[in-house]
Amino acid sequence: MKQAYQTIIVGGGAGGSELAVRLADQGDREVLLIDRNHSHVWKPRWHELAAGAGRGHVNELKYAGIAERWGFAFQQGDLLDVLPDENSIVVGGPQALPGGEVEPRRLCYSQLVLAIGGVTADMGVKGVREHAVLLDSADQAEALCERLSKQLLANAAGDGNRPVDMVIVGSGPTGVELAGFLATGHQSNALTPAAGGNTLNIVLLEAMDEFMPGTPRAVSDSVRQRLTQAGVDIVTGAKVGEITEDAVRTGSGERYASQLTVWVAGQMGPPIAGKINSLPRNGKNQWLTGRDLRAKGQDNIFVMGDCGCIEDNPAPPTAQAASEQAEHLAQQLPRLARGRRPRVFQYRDKGTLLSLGEAGAVGRLRVMLDDDLQIRGRLARAAYRGVQRRHQMLLLGVTKALLDGASNFLETRVGPRIKVH
Ligand SMILES: Cc1cc2nc3c(=O)[nH]c(=O)nc-3n(C[C@H](O)[C@H](O)[C@H](O)COP(=O)(O)OP(=O)(O)OC[C@H]3O[C@@H](n4cnc5c(N)ncnc54)[C@H](O)[C@@H]3O)c2cc1C
Repeated sequence: MKQAYQTIIVGGGAGGSELAVRLADQGDREVLLIDRNHSHVWKPRWHELAAGAGRGHVNELKYAGIAERWGFAFQQGDLLDVLPDENSIVVGGPQALPGGEVEPRRLCYSQLVLAIGGVTADMGVKGVREHAVLLDSADQAEALCERLSKQLLANAAGDGNRPVDMVIVGSGPTGVELAGFLATGHQSNALTPAAGGNTLNIVLLEAMDEFMPGTPRAVSDSVRQRLTQAGVDIVTGAKVGEITEDAVRTGSGERYASQLTVWVAGQMGPPIAGKINSLPRNGKNQWLTGRDLRAKGQDNIFVMGDCGCIEDNPAPPTAQAASEQAEHLAQQLPRLARGRRPRVFQYRDKGTLLSLGEAGAVGRLRVMLDDDLQIRGRLARAAYRGVQRRHQMLLLGVTKALLDGASNFLETRVGPRIKVH
């Protein structure tokens, strides 16, 4: 028997989870959220997992608990196909569940929202998939931490605490935040306390001549200064041509020794988009939408966040944009259900906030229409934490989020700050 729902949301990340909660909170009792994982770690904190933070520290939340609290349904599973003519989707797995295959199942919707995020693009560079670590899941972030831990131990046990050579490719927010956390974290000292000094040599490579392309100059200058002080070597104009087991080579012939390479240089849509023939997509494998976020040619299929692209006015691939789209769709889906046209989505840039671990936080807040306020230090750190706190409060409710925050605070005071493998 086919199961039918008013609204099915596939993908419970930064955008999808907020939309499910908002719809349920408005009284919509026929919402089904599907995600391939059973729990949710807010993606903008994955680099902290990579730098050694435990999942509790970055507030991992179980979908089943959130669904029960707000009164929507949750199923763990992988989107396999979209069949618009039948108003249904095919869901398989979940692959992550141990104990054998679950038969693919057909689920029917009146309205469908696709929110399954994106993945890192390898840009056709040789060796990326074979030799570099990507940050496309919380598991991969933890695997990076594990590899780094082992490499630190191997170097410490080998020839007199030789520092680990690490190359991070890409100076976008993920690259700089990861570099900041790793360069100033306590992990390397905790693993090899006798070393005392810096046990990581981090080189951050950027293909463009400009560091952090597209970021306001005041923010990128401040990030550069902090990372340099923390010992990160920043090289711009370094277009990577090949990654091997122990090095990164640029097209112009430079070689950077690397025992651990992290590739965070570019975004594209989810691989499954390439296998679903019913919905048009762009060259980056993102589903194309109109300004009202409806998939091209569809009346009742919406696409939000990193897996979609508004054809003539793309929003940036950020949690901020996904969250704004969730707020927008929470108003438009009920409108469509009442037979009215959904309104167009308008992205409002609220600013940029970056946390660099012990190297501090910097950012830009858009206070007026075209007026930016540059912030740094404690104010920027508080604003950065505030963005996640807001997401958490939405998902958990104010009281539970505050209790959760307090328990995390205590955990970091009495327990280890980092996870050591
Ligand atoms: C390390 C890092 C730091 C970042 N820092 C910032 C920041 O500071 N500020 C900011 O605004 N943005 C930041 N971003 C970008 C931001 O996290 C993303 O733009 C945002 O999470 C996109 O939201 P989304 O809802 O589209 O997808 P996601 O949050 O990626 O969620 C997608 C969900 O879909 C699920 N899924 C995927 N495929 C399937 C499938 N086939 N079937 C079922 N479920 C599936 C996944 O499990 C996931 O839960 C950062 C990203 C990274 C990696």
